[in-house]
Amino acid sequence: MKIALEFTPAQSPEHQSRLRYAFQLFCAVYGHEPILDSTKPDSADLRITYSGDYGTLQRGKVLRLQNGYRPRPLARPVPRPRCFREDGTTTVLFYPPENSAQVDWLAEVFEWISCADEYSICARDSVGRIPFESSVFGRYGLDGRIPYAALAMWFLQRAIRKLVPSAEEKAQAPGIGLTHAIVCSHDVDFMPLGYFSVLGRLLKNSIIALQQSPSVALGIFARAVLFALGGANPLQGGAQLARSEQKSGITSSFNFIVRHNHRRDANYRIENPAVIELMRWLQSTGMEIALHGSYTSLDTCNGLSEEFEILQKHGFQPLGGRQHWLRFSLDRLITAVERAGVLFDTSVGWQDHIGFRAGACFPFPPYNFAEERPARFLEIPLAVMDQALSPIAGEAFTAVAKLLASSRMYGWGGISLLWHPTAFGGGQLPIEIGRTFYDLVNARSEWQDTWLSARKFLQIVRHRYIEVGLMDRDWGASDQC
Ligand SMILES: [Zn+2]
Repeated sequence: MKIALEFTPAQSPEHQSRLRYAFQLFCAVYGHEPILDSTKPDSADLRITYSGDYGTLQRGKVLRLQNGYRPRPLARPVPRPRCFREDGTTTVLFYPPENSAQVDWLAEVFEWISCADEYSICARDSVGRIPFESSVFGRYGLDGRIPYAALAMWFLQRAIRKLVPSAEEKAQAPGIGLTHAIVCSHDVDFMPLGYFSVLGRLLKNSIIALQQSPSVALGIFARAVLFALGGANPLQGGAQLARSEQKSGITSSFNFIVRHNHRRDANYRIENPAVIELMRWLQSTGMEIALHGSYTSLDTCNGLSEEFEILQKHGFQPLGGRQHWLRFSLDRLITAVERAGVLFDTSVGWQDHIGFRAGACFPFPPYNFAEERPARFLEIPLAVMDQALSPIAGEAFTAVAKLLASSRMYGWGGISLLWHPTAFGGGQLPIEIGRTFYDLVNARSEWQDTWLSARKFLQIVRHRYIEVGLMDRDWGASDQC
């Protein structure tokens, strides 16, 4: 349906820009057509307005939202979330309405998607990341597995349906035959380049695991001993995984590190012919080759752009990637990904929790606060990383299944899952974690999930973000082969 958005003169340009962005995103997710030209509100089926002036409100259906949002300096945290319940559904609100006014759902969407609160957090862990405990989830005991931004959109759509009962209840998927999409990804941090490199890594992994679980550490150590005596290598480099995926009919994105400036970077070098050979082979099987931004890639202005260029020089056309160790702050990440001119990023998630860091179970352009506009790339939020899962058989599967069910309930997907190639075989993580991946792959038909690479996913959804005006008309056009 066609929906117009009206502001009041009291709302500043920055205020309007932020809510317009949330509105466009809502339209992209639900499949609405936004009417952004204020001279043409009559062509809309419905108007969402912040104006309290009923006298001048003309014909047609009108949804009036409370003008609740208040722009604030980025150094100031988000207002304390308050519990909100309506017709049996519970969520939290940063801007609870006065009296019985309609919640400012666009403001709620904006706060989540922009991750504005993260800019106010000074705490960093030893890697340089914002600790979960310091996030809005940690501070207020919120459940990161609830897609709060999607829930706010759902409430908004419900308010619309009260005025226009023929409006769809659910977000309309952007592709024919697509019900719920999952972007499958693998960060290649380690490659088995010889006997001693594998043995050394297995011993190192068992020492690291000792801090968390002696039994897992013992399992890894036992596999190291078996490998030393001529047994199988439990640390995969990606080829075996790609073969299994090919057999299952899914595609995925393999993210490679191309620079080594820090001891935490990959054990391989991009110049190694064996590495290039693997990448070419993966590409030939339909897998996507993307960039795993190195540990220090955001420490310099052009670091990430240069790494994309290195991949290009080797004959690949990366469209995006993810930061190694999830080492990023949003201001640097947004600037760097835009400077590189690529189409997507998949870093916004946690390494130690599953869930929706930006409240989103759908792709979105992050908000560029420095220029008060949507960023020029899509974030495909990272909802699950292998190492965040429970080592107990069954628990990991149930946790991810529940998360995917939430995503399915509020949208059509577009979240990314990460299993490192070394997560299979019990050489780094408990062996159940690798099995969980295949259990999820096998359950996908029953759940009507489509697993695919970021590149393939973008080809299906890009038009949605262009049509609502979040992206330029030619955005991603060069990859429509
Ligand atoms: Zn990594």
